[in-house]
Amino acid sequence: MSGKDTSQPKIGQAEQIEQIQERVERLRDQIRRHDHLYYVKALPEISDRDYDLLLDELRRLEQQYPQLLTPDSPTQRVGGQPLAQFRPVRHSVPMLSIDNTYNEEDLLAFDQRVRNALGVKSVTYILEPKVDGVAVSLRYEKGVFVQGATRGDGETGDDITANLRTIKSIPLRLHGRNVPDVLEPRGEVYWPIKDFEEYNRQREEAGEPLFANPRNATAGTLKQLDPRIVAKRPLRFVAHGFGIIEPMKFKRHHEIMDAFGQWGIPTFPHIQPVEGIDKAIEIIREWKEKRRMLDYATDGMVIKIDRLDWRDDLGRTSRYPRWAVAYKYEPDRAFTKLVDVKVQVGKLGTLTPVAVLEPVRIAGTTVSRASLHNFEQIERLGVMIGDYVAVEKAGEIIPQVVAVDKDKRPRDAKPIKRPTKCPECGGPVSSGQAEAVYIRCMNPECPAQFKERLRSFAGRNQMDIEGLGPAMIGQLVDNGLVKTLGDIYRLHEPDRLGRLLQLERVGQTSVDNLLKAIDQSKARPLSRLLAALAIPHVGVHVADVLARHFGDIDRLMAARQEDLEGINGVGAVVAESVYKFFHSPQGKRIIDE
Ligand SMILES: [Zn+2]
Repeated sequence: MSGKDTSQPKIGQAEQIEQIQERVERLRDQIRRHDHLYYVKALPEISDRDYDLLLDELRRLEQQYPQLLTPDSPTQRVGGQPLAQFRPVRHSVPMLSIDNTYNEEDLLAFDQRVRNALGVKSVTYILEPKVDGVAVSLRYEKGVFVQGATRGDGETGDDITANLRTIKSIPLRLHGRNVPDVLEPRGEVYWPIKDFEEYNRQREEAGEPLFANPRNATAGTLKQLDPRIVAKRPLRFVAHGFGIIEPMKFKRHHEIMDAFGQWGIPTFPHIQPVEGIDKAIEIIREWKEKRRMLDYATDGMVIKIDRLDWRDDLGRTSRYPRWAVAYKYEPDRAFTKLVDVKVQVGKLGTLTPVAVLEPVRIAGTTVSRASLHNFEQIERLGVMIGDYVAVEKAGEIIPQVVAVDKDKRPRDAKPIKRPTKCPECGGPVSSGQAEAVYIRCMNPECPAQFKERLRSFAGRNQMDIEGLGPAMIGQLVDNGLVKTLGDIYRLHEPDRLGRLLQLERVGQTSVDNLLKAIDQSKARPLSRLLAALAIPHVGVHVADVLARHFGDIDRLMAARQEDLEGINGVGAVVAESVYKFFHSPQGKRIIDE
């Protein structure tokens, strides 16, 4: 503290702190507002950079004045330490699931039952998309998020507060007026389809196993004991119900959802009460197609009675409320014949089985290939070539083989064997203990792997070399013009250039353009190069962290494994992988070039 500070009267210091506190509060309000605009309304008003500046300033002030730090500050979303295990939480009101129906007659019967029990002519219903996510219950006390839990068995769930705090569409503090003393919004945590596909793409690039679908990935993520892992995954929340509300001033469901919206809790933007079951069925029909516009997978609609007093009158069975029912659409699924299984070789040698199908229409598109994930999945399904298989398509996700009709199995059905050698190069394969689900080609010279690495290296997100697509790569590798990544940068040398021009369907202009694109790619930043090298576990994000930390490749190569591990955002697995890569003959050769 300087002499000037101590000479100031006490009141001055208090005033100064007060001013800083005001600034801190203002920053928090701004950040909360921008979170809401971005994650709930999808209408951001400022750039990511400006948002980061606000967050940085707040973080700095809170570090400087720790007495101003509060748990509901937007800087406090991610907790520091992994948990040993989840604590159980007893739900204030049981979390019931909702009974399913599959046709319109069932809906009419539901309406009849409800009207008979209530002794009324017509009922007002609420319709909501049924989100294919993971059900959670949140608890706010005096507007502050204090607890979040999974459904569990309906009576008791897991306390996943630390994980839920990292989800930016869940406000840590509610805004607006008349926030109840206790409020328990209930709803669904989900992984938006587009983000999910992008995340899987990055995992693929980093050579990590892919998630099967957004729902499983969400469930698996919420089970993580380390909230820092959860924070890296772009989960969202949407409310569709409630546990307790104190004081309870509402008479209808849609009033509660409107209030949720005003307090900053995300709800469905389309909720509106409708009078009578006929109108409800009309809307359900409309949403059969409309639901494909949503950013989450949904397999049906939920129909609920709007009036809360009628809900109380109807009560519940042991498992379901009597005042709501779900209508499930026919799945986007079709049966077709499995013609063959092709084995693809990934850039890190992973052998992936792909189903070749008799073409079939699903959800408006023709599907002739589908994912089988891995050989363990094939064994689990018990599928054989020639079988009739059920293929499902959810949202924009790659179609998947989900079931087999074994009654229709033809006599000449053939078993699908785990490959014992690489289908492309004939090299040895491994399915070592650590990655038993995955089988890999172990041949470091495997041309199929190399082609994939080259394709990824030249891809738009990496070195971005236009004109170096799969067809050109195939020709270059098959004709021995490119044997290492470095060979790309030697294509302009006279003897190679001559042979390049002799390739089929390759003209002078396309060669000129290719060489120009290759030359331009030399200017790509280090982070792009690192991401392009196909180092296991190094995707775009880690590459960026490494590039920022080391600045140039020589310093990175000189780093010891301990140095790498010490970097924020680089774990032990990544550190080992990076170190091994730069000290392997293959890695050294790549860098020399
Ligand atoms: Zn191979």
